[in-house]
Amino acid sequence: MIAGLLAALALLVGHPVELRCDGDTPPPGLTIPPGAVLEGWTQLGGDVLHLSEARCAGLRRPGRGREWAWSVQTLLHEGAHAAGVRREDCAESLATVWFLFAAWRLRLDWAETLAVLEEFARRSATRPEPYRPRDGSCVELL
Ligand SMILES: [Zn+2]
Repeated sequence: MIAGLLAALALLVGHPVELRCDGDTPPPGLTIPPGAVLEGWTQLGGDVLHLSEARCAGLRRPGRGREWAWSVQTLLHEGAHAAGVRREDCAESLATVWFLFAAWRLRLDWAETLAVLEEFARRSATRPEPYRPRDGSCVELL
């Protein structure tokens, strides 16, 4: 499942991406917005996605519940940064759109796909300001 997600993500990002489960430790100079929890990070345009242990565990979790959805959202969000998207809200929006492609590649059915998208929306609504989609200014990315 993780290999399938990374393969789909490489097509979206435009270059291969590698997952490392060392994202609990921020890179030097990374400022975490107030109220945010570091769940992953990626150098802009980079090819290594650093996810926290919790998000990596979520990707490995059997079934596709909330933890899996949050982990996939984090993975796709970091993939957007790997594609060169700087803004957090834009990375968040792109992750949602990219999930539709990933769901198709993973052969998820519509009920499962919609359940994951609903979980994305619930989670995004609770995240700090820089991550919340604002005003449609990311539309050109989609
Ligand atoms: Zn981000």
